Amino acid sequence: MSILIQNVLVNGEISDIRIRGPRIDQIAPSLNPEEADEVINGKGQAAVPGFVNGHTHAAMTLFRGFADDMELKPWLEEKIWPAEAKLTEEDVYVGTRLACLEMIRTGTTLFNDMYWHLPGAVKAVREMGIRGILSAVFIDLFDTEKREEQIEQNISYLEAFRGKDPLVQIALGPHAIYTVSREALEWVARLSEEKGLFIHIHLSETKQEVVDCLKAHGMRPVEYLHDIGLLSDRLFAAHCNYLDENEMDLLTESGVHLVHNPVSNLKLTVGKSIFPYKALSKRGASILLGTDGCSSNNNLDMLETAKFASLLQKWQSDDPTLLPAGETLRILTEAGYRAFGVGNGGIAPGEPADILLIDLNHPQNVPLYHLDSNLVYAVNGSAVTATICNGKLLMKEGVIPGESEIIAEAREAARKFARTL
Ligand SMILES: [Zn+2]
Repeated sequence: MSILIQNVLVNGEISDIRIRGPRIDQIAPSLNPEEADEVINGKGQAAVPGFVNGHTHAAMTLFRGFADDMELKPWLEEKIWPAEAKLTEEDVYVGTRLACLEMIRTGTTLFNDMYWHLPGAVKAVREMGIRGILSAVFIDLFDTEKREEQIEQNISYLEAFRGKDPLVQIALGPHAIYTVSREALEWVARLSEEKGLFIHIHLSETKQEVVDCLKAHGMRPVEYLHDIGLLSDRLFAAHCNYLDENEMDLLTESGVHLVHNPVSNLKLTVGKSIFPYKALSKRGASILLGTDGCSSNNNLDMLETAKFASLLQKWQSDDPTLLPAGETLRILTEAGYRAFGVGNGGIAPGEPADILLIDLNHPQNVPLYHLDSNLVYAVNGSAVTATICNGKLLMKEGVIPGESEIIAEAREAARKFARTL
């Protein structure tokens, strides 16, 4: 399969892009269209790399708008966890398909997921054609029997799904230090090292987590994970709102990837401290952005998240020069792709063909002084007109095959599900 995108704005110039198989083959003007299976007219559009969502729970699209305007603890304990306990594998499949649909429409080509009923998510990602780093939620609530069950389940998922599909990577998903025992975290650290698996965890989301950790272990959360041996460049830690200087040093030195989720943190109001971007970027930490689940966001639009991140960081540090548009976009693309070991997140020969086309005639994209500025501050995911992932055209001229069926199924699943609550 080969695709030719003609006359598109790419890396600052009008050119053609040829894609062969899963990779970008050539970027040059006036390439021969007769060699291509599919020719796309890129006139009036810009080609940019696909975006990376560093932290989400995709199937939670089914909980979009289900419980808003609550504090984190009662929101989790009274609404989300009881509802999740009733979810089926089919619900997760339908919800993840809806999430992938939204991601394709708004430009995300790689997402880092942690959720229940992993086989449902794997099936959805395989069908939809974007890249998923998928982990099953691991929660043992400090119970030995539950721990053994979860370990067994994770091993069976790895056997069933690992290395079976170029777009699906299976990771380990210990939920958080307040829901997972030390013994289980030690098991995760050992297995991750042995098999080279990514780990996805929630870390220092609230002040209470730090207070409770100090009380239980005499250490702060990052120090506790360091003591367990969990810190490495295979670890993706979501939130990281409450870090002291030593923790920031430990995270940076060990190469942990830190995922800032500005919209979720604002909506659930995790306290007065927020992801310390300035101090972490000065240290050279690996930083990504995420949406978190659709019940605390309530969408998966990475351009919207990028704008929130940039504005929130400027406001918090009282510094309008912090997190400028170009840097924010590099986090969405280059930093994300490199962190997950999928190329460099750029449009260049040899790179994975994960490319978006952006409508330059969208009213919010006019005039066009700086594309980076328009992408982060002016437009949102609705400016994406085409999405290519792994060399496959998933959306063309705003049309995704099967979209109405996916939406109808998700609507029906949510309706049925709501009746059981
Ligand atoms: Zn989360």
